[in-house]
Amino acid sequence: MLTILRRIVLEFSQASELDQALLRLVSQVKNALSTQCCSVYLADHEKQHFILMASNGLAENAFGRTCIGFTEGLVGLVGQREEPINIANAQQHPDFIHAPEVEEEHFKAFLGTPIIHQRKVLGILTVQQEQARFFNENEEAFLVTLSAQLATALASVEAQGMIELSYSQNMAKNLAGIGGSPGVAIGKMIVVHPKADLSKIALNKVSDNHQQLIIFNDAASRTFAEFSQMSEKLKAIISDNSLDIFDVYKQLLQSDNFKAEVIAKIKLAWNAQSALKLVVDSYVMQFESLEDEYLRERAYDIKDLGNRLLNNIQNLAEEDQQLPEKFILVAEDVSAAMLAEYQHLGLLGIVSITGSNNSHTAILAKALNIPAIMGVDYLAIRQLHKKQAILDGYGCQLYVTPADALINEYRHIVAAENKLYAQVKEEEHLPASTQDGHHVSLLINAGLSAGFEYSQNVGADGVGLYRTEIPFMNRSCFPSESEQTELYQQVLASFPDKPVTMRTLDVGGDKSLPYFPIIEANPFLGWRGIRITLDHPEIFLVQVRAMMKANYGLGNLAIMLPMISSITEVDEANRLINQAYYELTSELFCNENDVLERPQVGVMIEVPGIIFQLEDLADKVDFFSVGSNDLTQYLLAVDRNNSRVASLYDFYHPAVLRALHYIAEKSQHRDVPLSICGELANEPTGVLLLIAMGYKNLSMSAHSLAKVKWVIRHVDYQQLKQILVRVLSFTNTSDVHSYMHEQLVKLGLGDFVHARLQ
Ligand code: PEP
Ligand code: MG
Repeated sequence: MLTILRRIVLEFSQASELDQALLRLVSQVKNALSTQCCSVYLADHEKQHFILMASNGLAENAFGRTCIGFTEGLVGLVGQREEPINIANAQQHPDFIHAPEVEEEHFKAFLGTPIIHQRKVLGILTVQQEQARFFNENEEAFLVTLSAQLATALASVEAQGMIELSYSQNMAKNLAGIGGSPGVAIGKMIVVHPKADLSKIALNKVSDNHQQLIIFNDAASRTFAEFSQMSEKLKAIISDNSLDIFDVYKQLLQSDNFKAEVIAKIKLAWNAQSALKLVVDSYVMQFESLEDEYLRERAYDIKDLGNRLLNNIQNLAEEDQQLPEKFILVAEDVSAAMLAEYQHLGLLGIVSITGSNNSHTAILAKALNIPAIMGVDYLAIRQLHKKQAILDGYGCQLYVTPADALINEYRHIVAAENKLYAQVKEEEHLPASTQDGHHVSLLINAGLSAGFEYSQNVGADGVGLYRTEIPFMNRSCFPSESEQTELYQQVLASFPDKPVTMRTLDVGGDKSLPYFPIIEANPFLGWRGIRITLDHPEIFLVQVRAMMKANYGLGNLAIMLPMISSITEVDEANRLINQAYYELTSELFCNENDVLERPQVGVMIEVPGIIFQLEDLADKVDFFSVGSNDLTQYLLAVDRNNSRVASLYDFYHPAVLRALHYIAEKSQHRDVPLSICGELANEPTGVLLLIAMGYKNLSMSAHSLAKVKWVIRHVDYQQLKQILVRVLSFTNTSDVHSYMHEQLVKLGLGDFVHARLQ
């Protein structure tokens, strides 16, 4: 049954025409369950009804015509209840409605399952039979499993349908995502470097198949040459018959069947990628259904060959691609490194199919002031290439081929934003004090991007978080002590007489080093931050030595330890820092008047467990800094990088707010200096609550600083404390949001809500 199910889903997701795919689907399901009728209805949410799209058993004339309201009939009932409904005699059911045109009078047994994607009912799959009986458990389980798997494929078809519609009717259609970085970008989209993966290719036809034939033949020759080179190179190292696989690949590439099949598909107007996918998938399916385990395993080889060929097809297609002067970058997974690569080349905005709002890519985009949306649930990204778009990082929408009127509307929004920004910039060099004289210190987060010089002039009181990872990333090995010393010296010297808090290496999670790969099932719960550097004292010691050397003569360094989850880690890190300090003192100075300052050492509070050891920590470190990005992720058990659960990741969840409040109280009680350096400190709402809780040092992206200062200068501290009392009494996140929204308007900060300069 599993093989049948997989085949049905695979064939459905491969098909290019939805109508044909649905017809094939219903007949396959009807056969698999040996029943007499199978039908599929798709939801039209605008019109609030289901449309009968295809059936094997009902009257053909009704396809595309029969509509059933969301609250009507048995189909409506399945949709409303969002669960399978199994009825022995449908015609006797009170919800049954008679639709003569579908000609179902002779069917009694009915089983319907909803097709649901991300809580939205996309359609209903039904099976019917003449004999009055309940469908059995296996049949029900089959239909439920199939519907769940079809949902993803159908969701992507739905999104593609939207795009195609927008081209044909010249209407702006939008794709929704998650806000990665606020702002609006209007321009041409450029799709880059999708990882060659045949399973992600959407089938497409083209008018010029001659060009596609050239591309495919060139890609085949390239792939052939690559295999020859690879096996030549490896021959020197391996002498067993494992290299035979290259010969198999080469034979397959030369085989008349394989190549001829792809070419035949191209001649049917499929583009080279689609033709390759169709042929490879059918080979894979044949291999996977074989009894012999060895032969079944060969399906992997075919997939591998397919992806290598695809890689070359994509490279050939991209080779002569010139970047326009300004563009919106679209990719399957925009990494922080990719962003850094494109930022100087005219980058207007970012669209990432995967990822979420608190990933490091999103944080970097905010730091660079580049609008971004992440987690756009759209599989056929190649269709977006070179299309005009509006990227709305506030409303988290991507409008493809928008109408001129919409572009003009967005131009007005951008102008209003610029005006507001100019207004807040006027006060950026004034003190960050509330109207009743409560003063806070505003610092910046730095290190993720180049262009650090810009931050010197934004009116910051120092650097609250310098992330040291990026200088470690764009390289082929760990930087040496002298390289690090030089870099850190530049940073410390950029803020003379102002504190600069440098965090020790925090890789792992969603940040990896190309020369130090970490493959784990749960990277955010794994080997990350201080856990890695304590396991590798040689890396830690070099880094803290470089920091302390750089600090010589400047004296504004503080060292911060990421991901602390136990007192033992702090003891161990302190021991290593002391070791580095004493080593340096004896290496550098013969003159007893020369003194190397031992920097202050603090910890990030971002692992929930350590909140219950703040008292113990207070005796060991000089300061605490809350990492609210990770703290939220770990408190709520929501991966900050996973778009599927992005709606659950919320700084304003009562548990997060209460934890932040508790940390502030404990630090005050023990007199430990406290700061916060997570993204929450960039948001006007967050800032108001944090100040009321007692946070006196807020560290944020340089671009947010003027806005945050302006907000602080226009509120009253005593009033904020009253607001906080109310907020801490809420039990639901949504209540916090609506109450704070109301309060911002009352405080005269409505512009920040309406213009969404949040
Ligand atoms: C945090 O977790 O809040 C933080 C500031 O660190 P990062 O985002 O780099 O993990
Ligand atoms: Mg963190």
